[in-house]
Amino acid sequence: MKTDIQIAQEAQMLPIKEVAANAGITEDDLEFYGKYKAKLSEDFWDKIKDNPDGKLVLVTAINPTPAGEGKTTTSVGLGQAFAKLDKKAIIALREPSLGPCFGIKGGAAGGGYAQVVPMEDLNLHFTGDFHAITSANNLLAAMLDNHIQQGNALQIDPRQVVWKRCVDMNDRVLRNIVVGLGNKMDGMVREDHFVITVASEIMAILCLADDLQDLKRRLGRIIVAYNFNGDPVTADDLQATGAMTALLKDAIKPNLIQTLEHTPALVHGGPFANIAHGCNSVRATKMALKMADIAITEAGFGADLGAEKFMDIKCRKAGLKPDAVVLVATVRALKYNGGVAKADLAEENLDALKKGIVNLEKHIENIQKFGVPVIVTLNSFITDTDAENEYIRQFCEERGCEFALSEVWEKGGEGGIALAEKVLNTLENKESHFHTLYEDELSLKEKIEKISKEIYGADGVVYEPAAQKQITKIEAMGFGEFPICMAKNQYSFSDDAKKLGRPENFDIHIREVYVDAGAGFVVALTGSVMTMPGLPKVPAANNIDVSEDGKITGLF
Ligand code: ADP
Ligand code: MG
Repeated sequence: MKTDIQIAQEAQMLPIKEVAANAGITEDDLEFYGKYKAKLSEDFWDKIKDNPDGKLVLVTAINPTPAGEGKTTTSVGLGQAFAKLDKKAIIALREPSLGPCFGIKGGAAGGGYAQVVPMEDLNLHFTGDFHAITSANNLLAAMLDNHIQQGNALQIDPRQVVWKRCVDMNDRVLRNIVVGLGNKMDGMVREDHFVITVASEIMAILCLADDLQDLKRRLGRIIVAYNFNGDPVTADDLQATGAMTALLKDAIKPNLIQTLEHTPALVHGGPFANIAHGCNSVRATKMALKMADIAITEAGFGADLGAEKFMDIKCRKAGLKPDAVVLVATVRALKYNGGVAKADLAEENLDALKKGIVNLEKHIENIQKFGVPVIVTLNSFITDTDAENEYIRQFCEERGCEFALSEVWEKGGEGGIALAEKVLNTLENKESHFHTLYEDELSLKEKIEKISKEIYGADGVVYEPAAQKQITKIEAMGFGEFPICMAKNQYSFSDDAKKLGRPENFDIHIREVYVDAGAGFVVALTGSVMTMPGLPKVPAANNIDVSEDGKITGLF
């Protein structure tokens, strides 16, 4: 069987200007990054902004397992399938981070015959957006430390610096560091921290900003530290906003690439869904809605994280309204949730499936709480059996949601037609009564409790004393109306990664709470979740190489 990268490298790509032309974009509106990648110009938005919106379809999934779920694969395959049915669809995805690429997961361009290409570019440097975000983040950090060094006119308390440096790499030794060692001219010594770029507030801002002016306003509001009186110091106070915006001026433009079947795909922005809000840029999603009849977008990890934040943060802030949700499940992942070891997942096991399906059940119930119709799709693996598929189909239909088997990994768009037809049928016949889970007016604690109880199934919420104090301060600063960005492990509904299935009788533990004033949300860190991941014992990087003729191998 061919690997993802082999399939991607064998693909006959069209020049991106042809893919664009098929989607109604002229060469004037493209900024080329080589032959197969382009950014969409600012003028292009002005041309399409008064078009009617297409339908918005969100792809999400059950809790991830080491068995793999396939949200990106399904999103891409669904877009390819719509094209086969002569429907105008555009896919709007996130850009991959180097962290998982060299860590456990490998690339994130889809899989099998449902991929976006050029996959090596996308997985590595792409159009430089993440480099721009990293640079803007670290410029702010450098200006902050320099301000302290040069006399500290703003009276920044070095013990209360909250801005962290970032790098797009899984590098655990950078979680807690000391900067400024040396002599007087080497800066003020203080404890510092790195986050991975996809957890930087700048990533969230880039993804939530409406346009360049909104981006600038949001950057200016970033809180970098508190002064000796305990008042916030912002990027505007440091006069860093203009230079940061200059670094990000091209990064805010959505990137256009293609699927293996030449369907247009806007791939832009990429916050993680466990430690950040997990959605591609508002700008790309809005463009996709103006350009196509159906826009397909993906939110990260399980629906407890990505989909909840898609609804409660992205849709709330951007005024978007999802028309349908595709919930991806796999037989393997459900059996894993039912207690089967990774090595035994290929064997038929209906008992384990029946035990593990409670995970899917809870995700279905959760999405129904947002008033959006659900279509469950089983991302088919060649080891799945008919009896297993049939059991899941019945389970879904008994719960009032559509069901379709998807074979896009094996067959590309052709394998997604059954799913595409179910989605079309839903868009035409089932109305979306979308609403967010909670109102802005609830207190921060009420919001955290609502998410924990209703989405995670927790009994209650336990706050560490520090988190309690932070909440009081954030509300006193006037940020109580912000939505919550929960930071939680992705494997379990609970904050304990080992509790699989549909855990009961647990509390959510809030360790730390902080405000991202530029992004416009309050982050609540649960359990032991970390904003800088580490590499595993055998990183995926060990198997990545470049052959003598310059071909990359091992990127999955
Ligand atoms: P997600 O977006 O949910 O993280 P991806 O779509 O990126 O998942 O898929 C993760 C990995 O699983 C990819 O390497 C992909 O090739 C593989 N994969 C997805 N679907 C299938 C399938 N049906 N059969 C075999 N491998 C699959
Ligand atoms: Mg994905």
